[in-house]
Amino acid sequence: MSRNYLQFDPDKAYPAREDIYYECGKCGGVIPSKPQGGIGCQCRNIFIDVDAGRVSIKDESKFKIFIT
Ligand SMILES: [Zn+2]
Repeated sequence: MSRNYLQFDPDKAYPAREDIYYECGKCGGVIPSKPQGGIGCQCRNIFIDVDAGRVSIKDESKFKIFIT
């Protein structure tokens, strides 16, 4: 899987698409930006609440977005 990392503006909504994934720099976890249900990485640095339509990032310096 090739990873093309995206530049993103933390002040705006994170890009979310079928081919976009979020990567946690803390635990190395990778989660889809459009999951079926609520999902988070192992260390909970990243958590997506699908029902609320929210992405929570605790430490943005350990957060990357890439397109496959
Ligand atoms: Zn993590």
